[in-house]
Parts: sequence; C-alpha cells; structure tokens
Amino acid sequence: MTLPSPFMTPEREAFRGNFQRFVDAEIKPHIEQWEADRSVPWELHAAIAEFGVFGFGIDEEYGGLGFDNAFMRHDYSEILFGCGASGIGAAVGGRTISISPIAKFASEEFKQKVLPEIISGRKMSALGITEPGAGSDVANIQTSAERKGGRWILNGEKTYITGGMDAEWFVIGARTGGSGLTGISLFLVPHYAPGFSRTPLGGKMGWHSSQQATLHFDDCELDSTALLGPENRGFIAIMNNFNFERLGLTSASLGMMKLCYDSALDWARERKTFGRRLVEHQVIGHKFAEMSARIDMNEAYIERICWAIEQGLMPVAEIAKAKVQATTSLQFVASEAMQIFGGAAYMLGNPVERIWREIKIMAIGGGSEEIMRDLAVRQMGLAGQ
Ligand SMILES: Cc1cc2nc3c(=O)[nH]c(=O)nc-3n(C[C@H](O)[C@H](O)[C@H](O)COP(=O)(O)OP(=O)(O)OC[C@H]3O[C@@H](n4cnc5c(N)ncnc54)[C@H](O)[C@@H]3O)c2cc1C
Repeated sequence: MTLPSPFMTPEREAFRGNFQRFVDAEIKPHIEQWEADRSVPWELHAAIAEFGVFGFGIDEEYGGLGFDNAFMRHDYSEILFGCGASGIGAAVGGRTISISPIAKFASEEFKQKVLPEIISGRKMSALGITEPGAGSDVANIQTSAERKGGRWILNGEKTYITGGMDAEWFVIGARTGGSGLTGISLFLVPHYAPGFSRTPLGGKMGWHSSQQATLHFDDCELDSTALLGPENRGFIAIMNNFNFERLGLTSASLGMMKLCYDSALDWARERKTFGRRLVEHQVIGHKFAEMSARIDMNEAYIERICWAIEQGLMPVAEIAKAKVQATTSLQFVASEAMQIFGGAAYMLGNPVERIWREIKIMAIGGGSEEIMRDLAVRQMGLAGQ
C-alpha cells in the first residue's frame, strides 16, 4: 500500500525489514530445490525461530517472547507465505497452530519439557483435528478417548495433518463424551505413545515443500496428564485456536497477492506488444488498479482486526469474513496476474503459476470459505448460534 499505515510502529518496521531480508537471502534462492525435495531442511525451523515468531503469547520461562502482538503475527505470515512458495510457511507452520493449546493447558511438567524445544525450532508439533469422515464439521469428529485404569486410550484417525511426519508432539481432538460439540476434549500426544503410527500423504497440487500425514491411533495409550484443559470442553478450545490460524492464512493470502502483483508488474514493464509496454495498454493498467485496490482493502481490514485484538477483543466474525475476502481476492489477483503474463504464466517456474496451485488450500484449509461465511453469519447474530 502506498498510503502510510496508522498502525505501523518502529518495532514493526524493524521486524518486517529484518524478516524480509532473511526471507530474500535464506529462503527465496532455495525455493525450487525445497519444492523438488518435498521438504525444507531442518535447520530452517531454528533459523526462523531466531525471530521469536513461534513464541508469541508464551511466557519467557518456556522460551516464548513474553508478549503477544497481532500485528507482528500478521507481518510474519504475510512475509513468509509471500516468499513465492507458501508451502514453506506450511512446513514450519504445524507448530504455530498447535502451540497455543499446549501453552494454555498442558501440565507444568509438559510445558517445561515441550515448549522450549518447539519454540526454538528444534522439535515440531502439529494439530490434528480433521478426520477422514469430518473436516468442516468439527463437532462430529469420531476419534475416541476412553479412560482405562488411570490412562487414556485413543482410537481413530486424523488426516491431512500438516507437519504430521516430522512432529514429535501432537494436539489431538477426540471424543470423550456424548455426540456433538460438548463431548470433545484435547490431548497432547507424543510420537512415541504406544499405539500411535503415521503414514505420509501422497502427491498434492501445491504446498510441495510441506508434508501432510494420516495419524493412526490403535488403542493408543496416554498418561492421565495428556488431557489438555477441562474434559469435554475441547471444542471451544479448538474454535479459539482457529482464530489465529485463520488470521495467519488471511495474512498469508495477502503476501501471495503482493507477490502476484509485483511479478506481473515487473513483466508488464518489460514486455512490449503492439509497440508499447504492456503496462501502458489501458486494459492492462486497469487490471493493476483493480488488483492493487483489492490488496489495499485486504491489508487495511487485516490491520484493523489486529488493532482490535491488541485492544483485547477477539473479532471472530471479522476474522472469518477477512479470510474469505483474502482468499477470494487472491483468486482474482492471481488470475489477473496470470492473464498479464500471457502464455508465460502457464509455464512451470513462473512465480504466479505456483501460487495458482496454492490458492485452494488457502480457501479450504483452516475453515473453508463456505464455513467462514456461515460462522460470520452466526457470530453477527443473523442466524442461530
Ligand atoms: C494441505 C492440507 C493441509 C491441512 N492441514 C491440516 C492440519 O494441519 N490439521 C488439521 O486438523 N486439518 C488440516 N487440513 C484439513 C482442512 O482443514 C480441511 O480439509 C478443511 O477444514 C475442510 O474439511 P474437509 O476437507 O473434510 O471438507 P468437508 O468438510 O467435507 O467439506 C467439503 C466441501 O463442502 C463444503 N461444506 C461443508 N459443509 C458445508 C455446509 N454446511 N454448508 C455449505 N458448504 C459446506 C466445504 O466448504 C467444502 O467446500 C489440511 C488440509 C489440506 C488439504
């Protein structure tokens, strides 16, 4: 955005500048290799962790930053996912969506043991909510957890779990009570729990640098301390946890839009057709005007939401609506950028070609566009809660 932001601070500017330089120097040159490898090198986790970005909202005694900042969370996601391969953000991102329930609800012993190694990037954690039979309909998950002789026994399956092959710790939603949302609890599951196994998921259309897994729980045995938070109150914890995940995907989509815009503009300034640079054709100029307006609107909306969070609010409806705006805008911006590239857009290695293959995961993952609109409608009091 060319207009100054009333929400920019010297701290944010410094963070954005430093992190962008890191992404430019340490990530961008390796994108093709990591996409081909279907993973990022393990050292990348620790290198990103140096920026403190896995420690937002977590006490310093556990390796966290000791403060939270919604703007800097946004800056992080925008810049990392905007690098040109959003799968790299996903590859390290399993921990950002699973760390908060551990920090909030794990026993003191587990917090001391688990949080520092996850926050420092030495170990990975992942969030397992989705099942083969239930994704959007979280209240209907079927993985079960039963108490037996002072232990918990888990049975069931989770699928599409990002970071699932690397993670050593899993936050898992399971059914401990009756049907529906009041019968769900959260558990902290170590990769070495008896009865736990995992299998990698096969090919994907995008997010190639990241891995997803199916997790299997076959009479998986957990200590009584594995329960995270109150029994049968896991649904609300899952919903609260989704807020920052969704805001992160919204910021990520913004970063991807900016990359589409910048790459298309570079191209349109170079490429000549009918004796003029592409950008000088009125129809193409209009595309840039519309694309930049969408980018500016999304950025303004996200910053306003971050401001509200910093005031102590959690604007659930706005986060849901912003995610839909960002992913629908991303579709528009990426499509226009490809149109501007012409045939070159269709070739592997074009910067927008990869983003085109990554749009749908932003529009579906962490709560699809349909589900986000439904949630917003309920939160706005227009339909039953
Ligand atoms: C690459 C990748 C990574 C992922 N990582 C994780 C992870 O780390 N952890 C995790 O737990 N999950 C993860 N997921 C799962 C993801 O969050 C789900 O795919 C998503 O929530 C949608 O669930 P579903 O696929 O079961 O679709 P479904 O719930 O079966 O929905 C299918 C379609 O129907 C629509 N729909 C469903 N219900 C309604 C309704 N009531 N009204 C209108 N439309 C409706 C949906 O919007 C969707 O378009 C990942 C998925 C992918 C592809």
